[in-house]
Amino acid sequence: MNSSSSSTMSLPVFAENLVDKVLESVLCKSSRATPPCPATHYSSPSSSSSSLHASTRSDLQSTAVAATRSGTAREGTGSAAQQNTSPAKDYFLFPTSKFLGNLPDIMTEFIYFGPGPAKLPKEVLETMQKELLDLNGSHVSIMEMSHRSPEFNTVINSTIDKARKLLNIPDNYKVLFLQGGGTGQFAAVPLNLIGRTGKADYICTGSWSSKALKEAQKYGEANMVHKKLDKYGSVPDPSSWCLNPEASYVYYCDNETVEGVEFQFVPETNGVPLVCDMSSNIFSRPIDISKFGLIYAGAQKNIGPAGVTIVIVREDLIGKALPITPTVLDYAVMAKENSLHNTPPCFAIYAVGLVFDWILQNGGVEEMQRRAIAKATTIYDLVDGDYYSSAVDATCRSHMNVPFRVKKDEALEEKFLKEAKALGLLGLKGHRSVGGIRASIYNAITPEHVEKLGEFMKSFKQNNP
Ligand code: PMP
Repeated sequence: MNSSSSSTMSLPVFAENLVDKVLESVLCKSSRATPPCPATHYSSPSSSSSSLHASTRSDLQSTAVAATRSGTAREGTGSAAQQNTSPAKDYFLFPTSKFLGNLPDIMTEFIYFGPGPAKLPKEVLETMQKELLDLNGSHVSIMEMSHRSPEFNTVINSTIDKARKLLNIPDNYKVLFLQGGGTGQFAAVPLNLIGRTGKADYICTGSWSSKALKEAQKYGEANMVHKKLDKYGSVPDPSSWCLNPEASYVYYCDNETVEGVEFQFVPETNGVPLVCDMSSNIFSRPIDISKFGLIYAGAQKNIGPAGVTIVIVREDLIGKALPITPTVLDYAVMAKENSLHNTPPCFAIYAVGLVFDWILQNGGVEEMQRRAIAKATTIYDLVDGDYYSSAVDATCRSHMNVPFRVKKDEALEEKFLKEAKALGLLGLKGHRSVGGIRASIYNAITPEHVEKLGEFMKSFKQNNP
């Protein structure tokens, strides 16, 4: 700011005051109602915050004035955003909180409906921010702390305890925190479980379960138990499933994130261990864990940041891994060493613990379910009209991911996304494989957030008949 002071010395006092006012509003320090997202304060992948630090006062002044004049401050279409030509261009780039002051101001203005990594509860982000430099008086950040320290031991064990409490996990199940994401579990599940008979059954209701089947076929005889679906949007009737009693396990994905297909029942497998990918709906409702042999979920949708995958596995299924199983994916090794065989994703585990605290403080998974039903109903009521449409059978529509089309018209969908973004409704673009719109309404999205989306959907329909 040194060079900047000199550049403003020559301005008359009234002009300097005016510039200060513009700057203040652009920097979002004036009030809650101030548009919080000026072009100048987006950090593009190529422009680090240090380059913002280096900005002179006059740079900021001219950009601020230009943004204010053109009325583009809120949409982030000013110079910094325009210069960003990387593939990440279409995504909302979060402003640096250094320049914007309090995090809550940002979070109340923008609602991120992305499918994952997804919105986290504001309170969780604030706690992380507060504790970042010193975790519980240890004088060390969670990001610096040894995974063998007593402090981290407390973090991982309390996170496991909270998971047990929230889902009522019986004592004969282990809770593991692994790396490799959902995709890692596509391999880990067969590597650890298929050895019993060499066979496994798969129910494929969308992209993710189909990928899991393909991966499993590397390690044994993995079969789809029903006719391959021409298009995803339904759960084949269980009476049509051809389950093999000799299968080592039956696999399904409880909520297909891309297509928005969610099981409304737990498959009956007649004693064969049931394995479930709950990456995009775990902790959104109560589950009877005893019906499952194994449940896994990547954290980055409903329970934390990317980098950790929770695995809940019945003890009798552990210890039968194929000899080729990589050590880091071997449930027996990880269960024996409390997920600490190698360095775990410490920060992500800590963050998951904070999200569990938040769920506990907000009424547990029962309340998450009540909210999920209310939120999904708000959108499906609109989607069921003649203007918006859903490709998913009413019997298996997801409470977490709601894909829909706008008159099946791509140009109109582009307009919808652009106008939504201008209003602060972000991350609504459908998956690249299916197009259209997708609203992901995980736990951290409140019913009020969804009401705002609903209001926008109504007005968009009215203005674009
Ligand atoms: N399963 C489901 C249901 C998912 O939604 C995803 C990712 N979106 C995956 C598996 C794959 O997870 P990852 O990207 O963590 O490997």
